[in-house]
Amino acid sequence: MQGKETLIQSFIKLEGKPYPAYKALKNGYQYDDYEVWIDHVQGDPFALPSKVRIRMPINVAKFPEDTFSNKSRETALCDFLLRRFARSIDNYNKEKEGSGKSGVIDIDRPGQEVLARSSVVKKNDFLEVRFLVGLPAFGRRIAGKIAAKIFSETIPRIIDNSLYFQNLPYEELYKYIKIIEDADFIRSKLSEQNLIAFIADSSILPRASGVDPRPMRENHVVSFESCQSLRVGFQLPNHGYITGMGIRKGVTLIVGGGYHGKSTLLNALEHGVYNHIPGDGREFVIMDHDAVKIRAEDGRSIRNLNISPFISNLPFGKDTIRFSSSNASGSTSQAANILEAIEVGAQTLLLDEDTLATNFMIRDKRMKALITRDKEPIVPFIDHVRSLYEKNGISTILVMGGCGDYLECADVVIGMVEYKPYDLTEQAHQIVKIDSPAKGINVTSVPAILRIPCKNSFDASRGKKSVSINTEGITVLNYGVYRIQVWGLEQLVHPGQLMAIGYAIYYAQRYVDEKRTMKEIAGLVLKDIEEKGLDCLSLQEPRGDFSWFRKYELVAAINRYRGLNIK
Ligand code: ADP
Ligand code: MG
Repeated sequence: MQGKETLIQSFIKLEGKPYPAYKALKNGYQYDDYEVWIDHVQGDPFALPSKVRIRMPINVAKFPEDTFSNKSRETALCDFLLRRFARSIDNYNKEKEGSGKSGVIDIDRPGQEVLARSSVVKKNDFLEVRFLVGLPAFGRRIAGKIAAKIFSETIPRIIDNSLYFQNLPYEELYKYIKIIEDADFIRSKLSEQNLIAFIADSSILPRASGVDPRPMRENHVVSFESCQSLRVGFQLPNHGYITGMGIRKGVTLIVGGGYHGKSTLLNALEHGVYNHIPGDGREFVIMDHDAVKIRAEDGRSIRNLNISPFISNLPFGKDTIRFSSSNASGSTSQAANILEAIEVGAQTLLLDEDTLATNFMIRDKRMKALITRDKEPIVPFIDHVRSLYEKNGISTILVMGGCGDYLECADVVIGMVEYKPYDLTEQAHQIVKIDSPAKGINVTSVPAILRIPCKNSFDASRGKKSVSINTEGITVLNYGVYRIQVWGLEQLVHPGQLMAIGYAIYYAQRYVDEKRTMKEIAGLVLKDIEEKGLDCLSLQEPRGDFSWFRKYELVAAINRYRGLNIK
């Protein structure tokens, strides 16, 4: 391998040459302590910047064993280093002279969640950091001296500041690691206490704003305190004994007046499938892995799905056993979202009245009298919610301030009053008794759906390009000629997840054999990622823009893909 000096001299020699001459530098270079790899050179100064990778031996960076001794710790360490690296870029990268993206250094910027990502990964005995560098130019002429400075001064400074243990605020690092380890611990112990969720006392649930996921900072923010009857505790590996509200398996209703914090609580729970950074306020708001947020999502595509448990007798005899729609209604989209989540293994459904189709949730006495059963295709969710739990073992947490019929279905009723939870279960059951319950609860189980995708479904080509995958934030995945709308997936939190999902769909082709079900295929893809890391999804050079995702979001994206064919 050539040395650092060769690289620096090469940059200087390229001064003033046409931009494509940079391509000759694609290679790995040995610096004193680490390797620097230029994996991909951009076509011009305005294109996506070039891909650069640092390979730092662990024994040189001197990370103690206990910073990566289990999966939780390793993920926390890498996430911490990524944030540190990003901050160092902001501190040291001042020379943005030149055209287009000249001199820009950037790395995948994380949000509030701590996720495994491909931007910083630990592999056996070294760390890899993947980031972008805009190789500098004036017009289309190489600015070699500036490039030399970036690679001899700026990048080494960023690395010094962020990848050596001795230069890190180690108390902060250990705090980080210990929080993530404890969060994972709680999640792994939920079912021992028959719980599906835990919200630690003193958690801060509300966010700064609808577009800012950082914690609310105002001085009137009310921290979460469990009511006594629902309080549970965990003895944690690092933080001693911790208490908070436990939500048990079964049907849980969250009720309360408007603006009293119901949706805020549910949002915290739906994001509790991920771990959060210290200071987020939701560090110990923990939701079971297999909880899926359900909402109405009119306009989505549905391909060959048996929605008959919820919907039958559609006008003009439309098939509901192999139901397809390129423009689903609120109720059919919600039925599909539930059935597809169950298809891949969801154990808890999370629903909020704010984003549900009313006619899917409830049909009251008067409406039943006016529109008889043979004219109403929908068996509302209220008739299923108990049997979903009793026959299928699937729990529901439902925010419902507007309809009391659900009271009789609930095992626990949590009332939110001025952002504090109260256990209203007894009172609710009293009211149901006096009022005599509305009868007619369905007790048949929802049949398992197991769809098998066809081989031709996953073609990602576009024109001459054999693979074309890109994303628009976390709302659209462009896959080949198709635009997959994923705005309805409220548990997608980072664009890197969607990018990885795009490549995972492409990767999944190897398992599509017209025998395996969607669930099996997703399971195999996720297993490979678990064992080999997100890198197994990349096609050429290692990518720095993947984040970990769940099988639910992977399959949800596939289900919204208009090119999907089901056997
Ligand atoms: P609901 O769903 O009951 O109508 P929301 O959860 O949407 O109410 O909350 C209403 C408003 O109150 C939101 O602006 C939210 O940010 C704010 N809020 C929620 N929880 C708290 C809290 N614990 N402390 C302060 N403000 C909160
Ligand atoms: Mg609400």
